[in-house]
Amino acid sequence: MTFHPDILCPFCGLGCGDIGIDQDDSGIAPRPSGCPQADRLFRRSATVPTDARMGGTAVSMDDAVAEAARLLANSHAPLIAGLATDVDGVLSALTLAERIGATVDHERSDALFRNLAVLRRFGWSTTTLAELRNRSDLVLVVGPDPAAAFPRLWERWVVPEPAFMPDGARSVVFLGGEPMPETAQLLGGQIETVDPGAADLATLVAGLRTALAGRAATGDPMTGLAARLRAARYAVVVWAAGLFQGPQPDMVVEGLVRLIRTVDGTTRCAGLPLSGADNVIGANQASGWRTGFPLRTGFDGGVPTHDPERFDWRRRLQDADVTLWISAFRPEMPEFSTNGAVIMLAPPEMAMTPEPALFIPVGTPGIDHAGDVFRADSVVALHAGMLIDRGLPSVAGVIGRILAALNQTATVKETAGC
Ligand code: SF4
Repeated sequence: MTFHPDILCPFCGLGCGDIGIDQDDSGIAPRPSGCPQADRLFRRSATVPTDARMGGTAVSMDDAVAEAARLLANSHAPLIAGLATDVDGVLSALTLAERIGATVDHERSDALFRNLAVLRRFGWSTTTLAELRNRSDLVLVVGPDPAAAFPRLWERWVVPEPAFMPDGARSVVFLGGEPMPETAQLLGGQIETVDPGAADLATLVAGLRTALAGRAATGDPMTGLAARLRAARYAVVVWAAGLFQGPQPDMVVEGLVRLIRTVDGTTRCAGLPLSGADNVIGANQASGWRTGFPLRTGFDGGVPTHDPERFDWRRRLQDADVTLWISAFRPEMPEFSTNGAVIMLAPPEMAMTPEPALFIPVGTPGIDHAGDVFRADSVVALHAGMLIDRGLPSVAGVIGRILAALNQTATVKETAGC
């Protein structure tokens, strides 16, 4: 048995670097980390089927790559989605998309675009996880507890005493949401909940902005919260837009951005929008470097075109005749249906019903091979190392082979005068 201490976790975007992993001949298993995602997703068997499958029948990797190239080359409306892979995998996917005129989107881009839509309209003032931990004396959590998607947020970034606050005191106020039991246990007396009665999130945020403008009714509980925001030395407003329920979640984000702007200046106040699982932030950064646009970019016109509505993967699935779905981090399929063929790049543990046209097993970054992922606050690229060699290729490796096969086919056609 070998013990690997301080392993970086690539899954939700918080970048916890303290996971302990036991390894023996049967595979790897994490020591209890306090995170249900890490405890589940780091558990991998040493022996897994490494064959690709075509229509459910095992085929060699050479045949699978040739079939993927054939399907993609003949596609009239290809889609590359899921996109849950490390930065190298995303860059390869973008190269392939450019080559075949595909649309590119990440499975979890909904949360990202709820925030980007507002950033685009107004700009915003945001901060980092390190600033949250080291400088904030007031944390305002808006909406559902982000720990539902980012399990160790409070333990890693709020429980430690702020390094640069003179007295180290910090309050955490929930508005429009309740702390999960684990959060309540961790933060204990630091937590308060402001509950001005049942109202949707957008109305609550509007009420707080009214109080900040000094126009709240007498006795409105928002008045006290507004005064605390003004009095804080460094308030951080935290939200996970992917967890917002109800219509027009971007209107909630817009209200928060305006609220932060009102408070910031007389004292410090910044937002911390969280939307980072499965390297969606890294995928968005890579898209920006390569195309000048965020995700939801299509190459069907020969040049990159960005449209957050038209190139949403859920919408494109309806007319895609071939979908290359990439899910390297977790062996779980989102529910989707398409009339086109599906090429799946995923861990071998993934169970799929119905079986896709083509399944190519790939390794997980940070487990089967090294890879870079971005932290949820967008400012840090994290390098996750390799833990176990199960003979699984990376997404970048498989797509590189598909690209080589496409180029070879093109050369043969040119030589033959086709
Ligand atoms: S909180 Fe996120 S980064 Fe940390 S261990 Fe859990 S899944 Fe991994």
